[in-house]
Amino acid sequence: MKLIEFFGPSNSGKTLAMIEIVKRLKKQGYSVATVKSTPHRLDYEKDSKDSMKYVKAGSNLSVAMGNEETVFHFPRRMKLYEILDHVNYDFLLVEGQTGFPMPKILFLNKSEGIERLDDLTIAVVGEIEKLESKDVQIIHPGDYATLYNTVLLSALPPLPGDDCGHCGSDCTTMMIGIIKGEKTYKNCVKLSNKSVSVELDGKKVPILPFISSIVRDVNAGILKNLKGMDKQGHVKIEFDLRN
Ligand code: SF4
Repeated sequence: MKLIEFFGPSNSGKTLAMIEIVKRLKKQGYSVATVKSTPHRLDYEKDSKDSMKYVKAGSNLSVAMGNEETVFHFPRRMKLYEILDHVNYDFLLVEGQTGFPMPKILFLNKSEGIERLDDLTIAVVGEIEKLESKDVQIIHPGDYATLYNTVLLSALPPLPGDDCGHCGSDCTTMMIGIIKGEKTYKNCVKLSNKSVSVELDGKKVPILPFISSIVRDVNAGILKNLKGMDKQGHVKIEFDLRN
């Protein structure tokens, strides 16, 4: 990756120039990311407009940096498991449906929307008295203390989410089993075998289990001597075959 900075006072034409260069680079087939850095707090109205200008020009990633925050704008819908690669917090709260297997809380509009209840739903927030399923908790709207406890008790770590099929099923079925207490994370072959996944330019490449074990064991043997590799965790290695 090559970097270059456009700098100068306000209204000196930096944004317009960046847009023009992005367009030209894209036309030549390059992938481009743009970063807009300001020394003050981000003005979401103005700074996201500039970010959007770069996106419209073709920028694959547009980042806005203020003195207290950084906003990444990917002009595409990412899979939740891609987002998980970028975040590592105690809790990830998702608003809206992603299709990613995780415990879900269904919010009703009065009693409307109950048909959306599915096997991943662990609680319903709405003005209803009872449900057919006893496993689903009912929480009254505004009862945030109960909702908070439910989140604390029911939020779960993610499965890989890419439906590799090594367990003979898919991640959603596995998550439903975990929620019901019929399965554990050890039943996920990918997690328990600690298998290796290979991608070339973002596309998954099939890998046989015994090759996966060799790649994993060789790399684990080399990496374990590095500083900071003294505990168990998810390891991601990326490299470029182009040169
Ligand atoms: S083995 Fe794990 S990652 Fe693969 S489909 Fe089953 S639950 Fe999902």
